[in-house]
Amino acid sequence: MKKPFVIAIDGASSTGKSTLAKGLAKALDFAHVDSGAMYRGITLYAQQNGLLVNNEFNTKALLSQLGDINLRFEGDTFWLNGVDISTEIRSMQVSESVSLVSTIPEIRSFLVVQQRIMGTDQSVVMDGRDIGTVVFPKADLKLFLVADVNIRAQRRFNELNTQNAPTTVAEVRNNLVERDHLDSTRADSPLVQADDAILLDATQFTVESMRNHVLDLVAKRLG
Ligand code: C5P
Repeated sequence: MKKPFVIAIDGASSTGKSTLAKGLAKALDFAHVDSGAMYRGITLYAQQNGLLVNNEFNTKALLSQLGDINLRFEGDTFWLNGVDISTEIRSMQVSESVSLVSTIPEIRSFLVVQQRIMGTDQSVVMDGRDIGTVVFPKADLKLFLVADVNIRAQRRFNELNTQNAPTTVAEVRNNLVERDHLDSTRADSPLVQADDAILLDATQFTVESMRNHVLDLVAKRLG
């Protein structure tokens, strides 16, 4: 079997990682894994099961129930124990707690094992915060996305608004800034650019021009 090709895309919240990852996966016929959805899925499970109320965790109970949490991607649909949670995981309620959940080392290792499996028997584009540093330190291509925070907040707000979620741009911006802070200062697998990752400023590209630029990089690596 041909060795799978792994593209790792990391960066702060709402820099366009998932949009780029989806476009690349489609163009290259690779699988796409949005690792953030997995942290969001665990957060939603904790909220639904009374293990996370007002950012107060029952960490012990959550860890003891990890074996009961089954997360699965199927195209654009994301399942938690057989229920489609693709829309629910994007809510502000989940966004407000997910960066706390993702500081817990046991939760990270539970998900990292699953993420590595998804890149061993198939070529994959995976996006997140620690894909090039921790999950696939030997990825074939590593990208690190940055973008202006106001543009990121507006983007995220527009996405939320199409789902009829009552929120404001300022609220969304605050959440992004807070999550970036927590994500880049946590002890386990903080958000940092891998030494060998290529820095891309999303503000300088359209969605299509960025995808084409990366497709050229992939073609060069594939020789
Ligand atoms: O990518 P997204 O914004 O949906 O990720 C939600 C949260 O999940 C991040 O703010 C971060 O706390 C966590 N995350 C992580 N490691 C990843 C992907 C996401 O800690 N690889």
